[in-house]
Amino acid sequence: MSETSPTAPVNWARNITFSAAELHRPRSLDALRGLVARSAHIRVLGSGHSFNRIADVDAGRSGVLVSLAALPGGIEIDGAARTVRVGGGVRYAELAAELHAHGFALPNMASLPHISVAGSVATGTHGSGVRNPSLAEAVRAVELLTGDGETVTLARGDAGFEGAVVSLGALGVVLSLTLDVEPAFEVAQHVFGELPFQGLDFASVAAAAYSVSLFTAWRGPHFDQVWLKRRLPEPLGFPWAEPATAAQHPVPGMPAVHCTEQFGVPGPWHERLPHFRAAFTPSSGEELQSEYLLPREHAMAALHALDAVRERIAPVLQVCEVRTVAADTQWLSPAYGRSTVAFHFTWVADTPRVLPVVSLVEDRLREFAARPHWGKVFTAAPRQVIEGYPHAARFAALVRRLDPRGTFSNAFVRALLEG
Ligand SMILES: Cc1cc2nc3c(=O)[nH]c(=O)nc-3n(C[C@H](O)[C@H](O)[C@H](O)COP(=O)(O)OP(=O)(O)OC[C@H]3O[C@@H](n4cnc5c(N)ncnc54)[C@H](O)[C@@H]3O)c2cc1C
Repeated sequence: MSETSPTAPVNWARNITFSAAELHRPRSLDALRGLVARSAHIRVLGSGHSFNRIADVDAGRSGVLVSLAALPGGIEIDGAARTVRVGGGVRYAELAAELHAHGFALPNMASLPHISVAGSVATGTHGSGVRNPSLAEAVRAVELLTGDGETVTLARGDAGFEGAVVSLGALGVVLSLTLDVEPAFEVAQHVFGELPFQGLDFASVAAAAYSVSLFTAWRGPHFDQVWLKRRLPEPLGFPWAEPATAAQHPVPGMPAVHCTEQFGVPGPWHERLPHFRAAFTPSSGEELQSEYLLPREHAMAALHALDAVRERIAPVLQVCEVRTVAADTQWLSPAYGRSTVAFHFTWVADTPRVLPVVSLVEDRLREFAARPHWGKVFTAAPRQVIEGYPHAARFAALVRRLDPRGTFSNAFVRALLEG
């Protein structure tokens, strides 16, 4: 049994109308298998929070777009092994609530819990923290349904595993992921005010808590807000800025009620690590996003390079967020192999005005070997982007091995791997 949507599907930001006429929502594994068997060209859509055509099917190739959100079940906790098996359509919000109810936690989360786990790890999604790697690094095993109907499991230690998590959706349908979990913990969130770039000790500021986010609207040479997420009993120490006196939203003008609890009130990990509450619209809701990940030692040089063009950035920007990500081992992770600083941009929802500024930002960050976030807007040529990944050829070989007929390929992936 399968349901379909009546209209052409769009992504969360509504800047992408997918090239498939409808979105299939199988309600059983058998229905999903049947759909894959009948389809010469198929892609999985997660929760649709990417801002580009990474999830799309090829226009003119009668591709099938499928969502796993209606599949039954999907969260199995193994307390003894400290793992959880998560179905391919499950979102972080439901996973986190279930884990917490059983006394477990994930080590980190992105800024929002609304996104699907499989879609997030497929694009290298991350939160913040000098010792926190991307969300993909928590994955212990991937169970794939391939184009020829086989179920293939790749686990940590297996050949090719490092290519199978940040997969860009190109290897097959991710039926499930097994993630490492840890005992539940509490977090206290604190927001501070203006922090000047002048004299900034970036390493100390970024390491001031378990997770640190720095926000600027590029209206001046300073961060406007600093968000600290303290993993208790970690002490509070932030001598560089004044505590905020009212609850904040990172995007100027948006209501703070959308955001997770502040003022240092201790609470469960999953209600503090994301900036946005599951029941509210995350971020502004009317926006485009871009993000660039570069070696952390270039953080200050990159900040100054962007500050030099802030008059061009500010008019099309809602907010910029600077975070850190620990090095990871996933071949196509933008944080692969390097301690990372990530410069994120929440733009206004105006593609023609935003794209030239995206190119400008890329020009300014090129000398720092910046890698764009796979799920966000970028203008760099795909060949140039993939050159930033030392194991791209191994990933291409893994794609040929698991998907020899290109059932799960699309224009986005081919442009990267075939030039
Ligand atoms: C408001 C907002 C805030 C964000 N905050 C952050 C943040 O804090 N940090 C960050 O790094 N990113 C962030 N992002 C980006 C977001 O995490 C990524 O775009 C992520 O990919 C979204 O997951 P999704 O399920 O919506 O993926 P989709 O966009 O639906 O899909 C992404 C890719 O995953 C593939 N895919 C999905 N499910 C499967 C499956 N079961 N099997 C095979 N392939 C699959 C798709 O084919 C596609 O290639 C944010 C986005 C928004 C809109």
